[in-house]
Amino acid sequence: MAARALVVGIANADSIAWGIARALAGAGWRLAITFQSERAEPHVRPLAEELGADLILPLDVRAADQQAALFAALAERWGGLEALIHAVAFAPRDDLHGRVVDCSAEGFATAMDISVHSFIRLVRAAEPLMAAGGLCLTVSFEGARRVVSTYNLMGPVKAALEATVRELASELGARGIRVNAISPGPMPTRAASGIAAFDAMLDDARSRAPLRRLATLDECGATALFLAGPGGGAITGAVIPIDAGLGIIG
Ligand code: NAD
Repeated sequence: MAARALVVGIANADSIAWGIARALAGAGWRLAITFQSERAEPHVRPLAEELGADLILPLDVRAADQQAALFAALAERWGGLEALIHAVAFAPRDDLHGRVVDCSAEGFATAMDISVHSFIRLVRAAEPLMAAGGLCLTVSFEGARRVVSTYNLMGPVKAALEATVRELASELGARGIRVNAISPGPMPTRAASGIAAFDAMLDDARSRAPLRRLATLDECGATALFLAGPGGGAITGAVIPIDAGLGIIG
């Protein structure tokens, strides 16, 4: 039976999750793909259908009932899961654009809930389906490790996400479940366009990265596929940069 992946985080054809879904489908994986809302569905459904997804279901990660329905459908249709892809992040605009020192408790909590705790919730729900082991993969950014101008509140949020990856990897390793993050350099997606002066961040990345370019969706997909396959078998708790080398430049 083909390997099966749940992919959460496709908004459109620029999404990092779309690059990952495409790579997995190209390697023969079966897919379950979610869309965040009714408004997102017309953008996501055609992409999911293009890849022949077995399941296309709503999931706003704040909605516990939707998550329960999704995992009930996965259990019924597949009965097992080999990969969970979580490529979701959000911070309220005012909190994202202000100084971290000024961010509101609500904005901080919302950003942490949607960007970090949602990963914990999805991994917890996936665990019983991964009886034969599997990969849980999320998406981080260099702002977790150092100050990246205008990344603001998402710096601490991604730091928490990376620490969460390590904790979950430690807790689930004995069951053969590996937990990792990829960390792409800046890429032109819808979520990224919410960051102030993002075009300048892209230009800066192109000019300073050792490879003098941005990473591509295909490269994110190929790395995820590698991590999900035998090559990634001994990799857990890791944050893998896909950034044309940008992270080594101070
Ligand atoms: P994107 O806008 O294509 O994807 C973000 C996704 O998050 C969307 O599909 C959106 O529907 C989803 N989302 C937000 N709130 C949600 C909620 N409440 N419930 C369910 N889904 C929700 O942008 P992207 O850049 O592909 O983002 C994917 C991940 O990659 C994010 O974690 C982002 O922080 C990370 N990342 C992006 C970059 C970049 O430069 N684009 C770099 C490194 C990491």
